[in-house]
Amino acid sequence: MTGQVNTKPRGRQFFNNPGPTNIPDRILRAMDRPVMDFLAPEFLEMHRACYAGMKRIFKTDQEVYFHASTGHGAWEAAVANLFSPGDLVLVIETGYFSLGFKELAETLGLKVEVVGADWRKGLEFAKLSERLAADKGHEIKAVLAVHNETATGMVLPLAEVRRAMDQTKHPALLLSDTISSLGSMEYKMDAWGIDVTIAGSQKGLMLPTGMAITGVSKKALEASRKAKLPKYYFNWELMEQRKPQRFIGTVPVHFFFGLTESIKMIEEETLEGVFSRHARLGEATRAAVRAWGAKGNGPTLYGQTEERLSNSVTTVLMPEGHTSDAMRKIALERFNLSLGGGLGPLMGKVFRIGHLGDLNEPMLLGCLATTELAMKTAGVPFAPGGVDAAIQSLAS
Ligand SMILES: *Cc1c(COP(=O)(O)O)cnc(C)c1O
Repeated sequence: MTGQVNTKPRGRQFFNNPGPTNIPDRILRAMDRPVMDFLAPEFLEMHRACYAGMKRIFKTDQEVYFHASTGHGAWEAAVANLFSPGDLVLVIETGYFSLGFKELAETLGLKVEVVGADWRKGLEFAKLSERLAADKGHEIKAVLAVHNETATGMVLPLAEVRRAMDQTKHPALLLSDTISSLGSMEYKMDAWGIDVTIAGSQKGLMLPTGMAITGVSKKALEASRKAKLPKYYFNWELMEQRKPQRFIGTVPVHFFFGLTESIKMIEEETLEGVFSRHARLGEATRAAVRAWGAKGNGPTLYGQTEERLSNSVTTVLMPEGHTSDAMRKIALERFNLSLGGGLGPLMGKVFRIGHLGDLNEPMLLGCLATTELAMKTAGVPFAPGGVDAAIQSLAS
């Protein structure tokens, strides 16, 4: 090994991917303990508390299921439990993740129709209402929506989706992917009339990747009793039969050790506190990006509908002729800052700043300052003053 120089950056990595997110030391410590029998009273007590805690975070009085899987598993659980082959569902296009949800539903044997939308502007609600109103025979069994489109950094207002369904008196189920909004932005499963909430562990809940959590309404449970798609591991009914743990297979007890701490942290800060911290960090990030682009030749906000810009992730469009990946590589390899890349057709064209989960002002300012440093090093043009603008925003 003589003569070899270790060029790995020193110090703490600033991790600003929009998922997974930073795992707080408190959660790491909570998981750093010996295994436990999942039928032991101590574990069952913890399991019950997590079940109740997730209901408070989803804001639901209905059912919750835990799956050992990524968020994709919760997508699959929802589709496999609710539908029969050939059922028609409507996907609201928001960006890359909405099209992933569509692909999964099609692969499992559903007919899928997409309500198209400009990724930078978001859904025009008239289009959704029009399609629902035209479905006089109620062939559409469900509307599939992504609450926070992690690829574009834009929010889909779910209460308005519900309103469009109510106004057209459409009985379809409403499924919402909250993987990058839960625990960061306001979410009200019951008040918004959501039938299935799809969540993952590694974003706002600040846990390692690998647990999916699904909220299920009574109406969705009723629909699931008639659904004919094959399912086993994700079968909610079978899970109910595996009492008291309600789980197919060995329960990943360490996830529940972590989730217990996550719920505790969120409730110590209060959900309102969590949402307002994310709103402040999101606004500061947008202020920095606006400053970078102020002279017309720098990076700009990808999302163009102001009131729908996300408080958990900001997608930044690169100036013409510059690829985001070269800049991200410098940020990571020289400065130890991890930023998200562009997904699907946005690859190379945008980068994404994740500002969700266990994050505070100094961490965000470090990220924004280092993004400027990486842009400067990569020769990406930008107007100065981004960090100042973020400071102004945070101080006000
Ligand atoms: C991250 C993400 C997913 C995918 O979650 P996995 O756990 O990687 O399967 C799906 N939808 C949205 C909106 C996401 O942000």
